[in-house]
Amino acid sequence: MLFERDTVLHSWCRQADWSAPTVVGGAGARIHTADGRSILDMSSLAECCNLGHQHPKIVAAIREQAQKLCFVTSSWGAEPRARLAELLLEKSGFAGGRVFFTLGGADANENAVKFARQAQGLPRGRIIARDRSYHGATYATMALSGDSRTRHQVDREAFGVLHALPPYAYRCPFGSATAEECSSRAAAHVGELIDKHQDVAGVLMEPNAGTNGIVAPPNYWPALREQTRGRNVYLIADEVMSGFGRCGEWFAWQRYGEEGRPDLMTLAKGLTGAHLPLGAVVLSAGISQRLEREMLYTGLTYCGHPLACAAGVAAIEAYVDENLIERSRSLGALMLERLKAMQAKHSIIGDVRGGDGLFAVIELVRDRGTRESPSAWPASPDALKHLVRDALQRDVSFAIRGNLILLAPPLVIAESELGDALTLLDELLAAVQF
Ligand code: PLP
Repeated sequence: MLFERDTVLHSWCRQADWSAPTVVGGAGARIHTADGRSILDMSSLAECCNLGHQHPKIVAAIREQAQKLCFVTSSWGAEPRARLAELLLEKSGFAGGRVFFTLGGADANENAVKFARQAQGLPRGRIIARDRSYHGATYATMALSGDSRTRHQVDREAFGVLHALPPYAYRCPFGSATAEECSSRAAAHVGELIDKHQDVAGVLMEPNAGTNGIVAPPNYWPALREQTRGRNVYLIADEVMSGFGRCGEWFAWQRYGEEGRPDLMTLAKGLTGAHLPLGAVVLSAGISQRLEREMLYTGLTYCGHPLACAAGVAAIEAYVDENLIERSRSLGALMLERLKAMQAKHSIIGDVRGGDGLFAVIELVRDRGTRESPSAWPASPDALKHLVRDALQRDVSFAIRGNLILLAPPLVIAESELGDALTLLDELLAAVQF
């Protein structure tokens, strides 16, 4: 058995701290390690394995495509690419639109920004994103992200990015008393920024789930849409995490029907359930028409890789055949109910948000009355790190960020597995002291 501890440069960690088991396989919501353990994955790894691990139909589709055709560039046609574009336009209802394929989420966001600017005739037009957001870790997406871990590495103004205050209702930056008022003010604030700067080409936001722990109250997205539509500014929905059932719909904006339809949306993660790397930008018919006769100076060698597109087609078929979007909605409601019951029991649970699908955030506090955080964002308190370690010893893997626990299991998780994981979490939370 080969170990990578001393040879691979690992992302998002201190190398000296990296120490993880080797994963050799998986099935359903479980990953299998080289030392024979079967670990229940309560975060879909990086919130991306929506279809579970080693989904047999996707593995078969990749194998079949590999035997026919591994690669052509986008100067040539490829059957799985054509089929996947058709399916994405159908599921999103972007009739007459187009799909641009990328390698993952960050380059999907970069390209969505390029398209929005080009279609507006503002090649360097500003983009409004928000604080406490994550859009990727390339330079442009670090500038777009309102992420305290990476913002010092990049001058966001040089990338034409403005950051709006977030609809963080639990700690409302506008001091609002209700979630509804907080998000109305946050949406109006975006409108004010557009009016102030005049050269805004687009607004890029996560409609629901996000690793920075914000779940916008339900009136935010439609209000944001109104603010942007009224001012002819494109709204770009970053659905990299929130898409493909994670929030109980194919795409989270669909919770608001036509009223919430963005002009562009970006996808990755659940697009292939992470079986192969793939991202996409879905463009409205209007933007596609504007770009129809213009040169598009963008694209990476592997964009729209046929193997990845074949995995995407099989993934969409699996979501449909296994009713996974509906399943996420019903299991998400169940999970939310359990978390609310835990909140009633444990005073360290300040807030529980999400639950529209299999995505929820638990925000931990030292004191529920003062809402004092047990650690300064984005650091995690030791007691929470210990909870994760203890859970792993009992073969359940939880994801944390700062003082948050992010729950995002694969949509194929068995109801009993979900129940057992939440029972364990309940037990471990009872022992946490800040
Ligand atoms: N956008 C969102 C909302 C994400 O959660 C992520 C990744 O976590 C990204 C973009 C970046 O995607 P990728 O890591 O595939 O570049």
